Amino acid sequence: MKESLIVRLEKELAVIEKAFNDNKFRAELLERPETYFPEGKSILSALKMFTEIFAADPQLRTRIATDTVSAIEGLPIAEYVNSAAEFAPLWQERADNVAQIDFERHINRPLLDAYNQYNTIRLNYLDGTKNDSYEQCNNNYRLWCEVEKARSKFELGVHDSKVVHAPFAIELNQGCSVGCWFCGVSAEKLTEKSIYDRFEKEWKGICSALNRYFGDNCRKGFLYWATEPMDSTDYEKFQSDFIAETGYIPQVTTAVGHKHVDRIKRILREPNAKLATIHRFSCLSVAQLKRVHREFNSVELLFTECIPQNKESIFSKANAGKARNSEFIAYKLGDVSEEVQRKIMSKVSPSIACVSGFLINITTKNIKLISPCPATNEWPNGYRIYADVSYTDVIDFETKLKDMVNARLAQEKALSFIDGINVSNLDNGFCISSLYGELKFEHHQHRDTLHELVRCIQQETFSPHQLIEHLSGDYNVTAQQASDLLQVVSSKGVIEHIRERGA
Ligand code: SF4
Repeated sequence: MKESLIVRLEKELAVIEKAFNDNKFRAELLERPETYFPEGKSILSALKMFTEIFAADPQLRTRIATDTVSAIEGLPIAEYVNSAAEFAPLWQERADNVAQIDFERHINRPLLDAYNQYNTIRLNYLDGTKNDSYEQCNNNYRLWCEVEKARSKFELGVHDSKVVHAPFAIELNQGCSVGCWFCGVSAEKLTEKSIYDRFEKEWKGICSALNRYFGDNCRKGFLYWATEPMDSTDYEKFQSDFIAETGYIPQVTTAVGHKHVDRIKRILREPNAKLATIHRFSCLSVAQLKRVHREFNSVELLFTECIPQNKESIFSKANAGKARNSEFIAYKLGDVSEEVQRKIMSKVSPSIACVSGFLINITTKNIKLISPCPATNEWPNGYRIYADVSYTDVIDFETKLKDMVNARLAQEKALSFIDGINVSNLDNGFCISSLYGELKFEHHQHRDTLHELVRCIQQETFSPHQLIEHLSGDYNVTAQQASDLLQVVSSKGVIEHIRERGA
């Protein structure tokens, strides 16, 4: 029995991996799941559903610790579980504090191992999204973005690892009809919806301009922000033009997917995009999550994520936007007192904003140049706004994209070493010393890059972007490596920005 389970899981993994890499095959799989899975059902999808319910439902979490078999009764996973012992490792890894089980006894953990492999396939796909190359992007945007990513990494720490730094987000409406209390980007009430027929020509021009500016990086762009995509009754028409111009399907995150089942099913099956994406359901209650699990079939759910957003969920909300400093934010800090939690809360303020680029609203004809940062009094929604402009038509839109980034680069101040330190070259790098200590930066392979870094900073005319461009152009390092190097040296407090460039 166990062996056949293992064989079946292996077959499933092969099908899923192929579907993540081949959009046409994925559409075929969704159309005819019974050709690839017995009864058209996936065990791994049942496992995924279980982990989502587990994260959302406090009653399940309590019951499962004492009576695993009866707790999972009625859930799709129950069909594939022979005993509590076989199943225990899966949920134990997700909540070690729920119960203690000696799973060393369970030498063969086929369910958990297969589930981990499935997650690896999904993560590889998502990492591919995160690490897209900037080759086809506008060069100045690339330079600007590299520094913003380095700053974000420095300011957000581990939280930055989840940020994709998408190049743009486009709001099709003004405001959102859902009104979540925790909205991390402080969506306002829905006041205006975009009607496709009114925007068609301009919209196609905007998609085309974005494609010229970002090339393949359009893959990471999406059509919502402080808006609910399904509020737009013409969403699919906007999506269709976007795919026609860029080749990519914009990822959907919806809090009302359970009310638009047919629409989401069609979006999941979209055959014209070059690649698939993972669409997301934001679930505001356990009942809503269960309804999504009922309305969408086992194979459809393999290519989605259900994010439990209910208050009892084991996932904390970002301390940003409407949730900022809210008493409802659960931090899951175990025994830590409320007072200490509040102190931590005031310091831990990650962001859900994931765009380093343009936030565009087509109803108000507005473009903002933004980048993620911790949520603060100055930037409560967890992103900095560097520029905020209006556009009149497509030509103006494209001009503004370039002007906003160019203006930002031109505003940068030149770099200099701080006063009172000595900087001297070493064979393989350089050394910075003060009266009380010294710092050495050495790398045999990149000694010339390190020497050039010193020369440029001492020249006091290079802005961070100019320095990254210069080093990545002639010194055999990528823009990301040059940006990381500058970040490392800056983090020691030995570099300052001295004046407006050219002033
Ligand atoms: S979280 Fe999403 S669905 Fe909820 S109010 Fe904000 S934009 Fe709307």
